[in-house]
Amino acid sequence: MSLLVVGTVALDSVRTPFGNVENALGGSATYFSTSASYFADVRLVAVIGEDFPKEHIQFLKSKNIDTRGIEVQKGETFRWKGEYGYDLNEAHTLATHLNVLATFKPNIVNDYKNSDVVFLANVDPDIQLEVLRQVKRPKLVACDTMNYWISSKPEALKRILKEVDLLTINEAEIRQLAGEASLVKAAKSVQAMGPKTVVVKQGSYGALMFNGHSVFNAPAYPLESVFDPTGAGDTFAGGFMGYLASTMNFTEESMRKAVIFGSVMASLNVEAFSLDRLRSLDYKEIVGRYREFKSMTHFEDI
Ligand code: AMP
Repeated sequence: MSLLVVGTVALDSVRTPFGNVENALGGSATYFSTSASYFADVRLVAVIGEDFPKEHIQFLKSKNIDTRGIEVQKGETFRWKGEYGYDLNEAHTLATHLNVLATFKPNIVNDYKNSDVVFLANVDPDIQLEVLRQVKRPKLVACDTMNYWISSKPEALKRILKEVDLLTINEAEIRQLAGEASLVKAAKSVQAMGPKTVVVKQGSYGALMFNGHSVFNAPAYPLESVFDPTGAGDTFAGGFMGYLASTMNFTEESMRKAVIFGSVMASLNVEAFSLDRLRSLDYKEIVGRYREFKSMTHFEDI
């Protein structure tokens, strides 16, 4: 089934205690689509500048991602510069250069409009809203966001939340959005803003899904070495939504499996810089890690 994503396609400069990269391929939509491409047909809507290296588009095409929705505009590509300390759960943004994103008005390709599942990845909420206005009755709409937009565009973000079925968000950001310290209270308060399902990403502590009245708690895969956590959240969302788009089954049982597929993809992504680990995965590796998750979390009844 078809999965439409809108978000950023970026050039990232990232420093972690284990190394650094300059102007590497990044962006919320890039991580999301690459991860989701292992499960579903992905259509990508984004904007890039004339400086964006062609080989990155070739790479996305090689993953069978439909890139007709990537617009090239005069100017420079969106750039993000960030740093992580030994606590790899917390990204410190050093610079955000919106560049061509500042004036981007998406114009959705006609045959993208009937996509079954839509993911509004982290980007300006006005752009998310514009995409939502142009698609026709998708069966599932989910979105993500971050502190940058919660602070700068709270009203537009609240408008989007009213219209989505599901929100993925990290722990610090849901506290900021809801103004609540308790994650349970914060999730309830965000559910009251619109989305029936809220998935809280907790970095190396896993993910918590609040689906209606039920709660599912998944751990993160205990990795021996993490090199670069950039994109972990978007890669999680790619596995999660990609799996749901491949089954079109949105029952609690299926959503729980989706959380594990998301966790599997995120754990693979952070093992290398940029998208390097996601470039040439084998589906068998994904299934292998999914089964490890199952045996790792299994325990007997009393
Ligand atoms: P994550 O680590 O999953 O939260 O996402 C990291 C990615 O988000 C990077 O590749 C950045 O290019 C992208 N990013 C950073 N800041 C923003 C922003 N304000 N809006 C959209 N994408 C962003």
